[in-house]
Amino acid sequence: MKAKITLLPGDGIGPEVIAAAQKILEKIGEQFGHEFKMDSQHIGGIAIDETGGALPNPTLESCKKADAVLLGAVGGPKWDDPNASVRPEQGLLGLRKELGLFANLRPVQPHPELMGASPLKESYLEGVDMLILRELTGGIYFGQPSEKRINENGEEEAFDTMIYSESEVRRIAKLAFEIAGERSKKVTSVDKANVLESSRLWRKTVAKLSEEYPEIELENLLVDAATMHLLSRPRDFDVMVTMNLFGDIITDESSMLTGSMGNMPSAALGEDLNSFGKPRGMYEPIHGSAPDIAGQGIANPIGMILSTGMMLRHSLGLSEEAEAIEKAVDATLNAGHRTGDIAREGEVALGTDEMCEKILMNLV
Ligand code: NAD
Repeated sequence: MKAKITLLPGDGIGPEVIAAAQKILEKIGEQFGHEFKMDSQHIGGIAIDETGGALPNPTLESCKKADAVLLGAVGGPKWDDPNASVRPEQGLLGLRKELGLFANLRPVQPHPELMGASPLKESYLEGVDMLILRELTGGIYFGQPSEKRINENGEEEAFDTMIYSESEVRRIAKLAFEIAGERSKKVTSVDKANVLESSRLWRKTVAKLSEEYPEIELENLLVDAATMHLLSRPRDFDVMVTMNLFGDIITDESSMLTGSMGNMPSAALGEDLNSFGKPRGMYEPIHGSAPDIAGQGIANPIGMILSTGMMLRHSLGLSEEAEAIEKAVDATLNAGHRTGDIAREGEVALGTDEMCEKILMNLV
């Protein structure tokens, strides 16, 4: 197969983990006889420095022509001025919107070897296998108006708009029911229907759609309760579907079930198809640019490498190759290799490149 992949290293540890993904892809290409044509482009803070904008046109064009996109991370203190008119996150949000990537899939499966790295007791983690589906192109992150202004008291005030249409809710909920049908047949929908009008529409729309999926159990949870249940009974969940803001928060919380954000991959999918007739997705680890460790070569590349596996499976239809990556990560962890974020006291912490080398060696 010949596939076009756009690489967006971004900022902070983004370039460090993307370099690992690139090596993995090169090795998969050699082993399975594929040609991955990779085009690296700027996004986020580095793009602002180079071009003045967070999502330059050549980046957008490259992503639109690609079969899939791999992203490291964007942002950092250098671009954090709250008064700045251009911010790195605009690059990421803009790209999700431009590519119509409305669904974010985040699998949560604590690795048996890493249960000790989670702050939760092992007895809570055994058997946890869930998929969090976050709506990605709507809600409060995109709703208009979103403004800062001076009120009648001469004081600064700001507001954002949380808005969802029925079709937006239906689209993401349909995906949730369909994915649950291939898993353990349970959907947990998370909202704040006791307070927010947009959540009441969300709940009503999900309930209506559930009538078309009688074999799938539907559970509704308020987001505040959901954050608690995620820790007290994580094994009970199969597919958890929620809106943009709540999904952003819940997925970071769920990363602690796996021990570190550095371990968790994600896929953003839309309706647009690539040259293989598969979704042209964007794949990224769930972590950010980790400015506190950037430039030290110690970032955990596993989330990025597993995101690369998700790309091969969902956008290129290469399940065997994706499995090879997952098995290589498993074998590396089973052999006791760890980066600093998942090493326990007394365990040797490998750097990003060393960890990547171990995974490459297990890629057979
Ligand atoms: P973060 O995910 O960057 O870091 C949180 C903590 O986890 C830090 O202590 C960091 O060192 C650690 N960590 C994260 N990834 C790791 C890895 N691969 N290996 C080892 N340790 C890792 O979140 P933050 O500190 O809240 O945000 C930093 C910057 O990243 C901000 O500018 C934020 O806006 C941005 N951000 C970007 C994205 C994205 O690009 N998708 C997502 C979240 C945050």
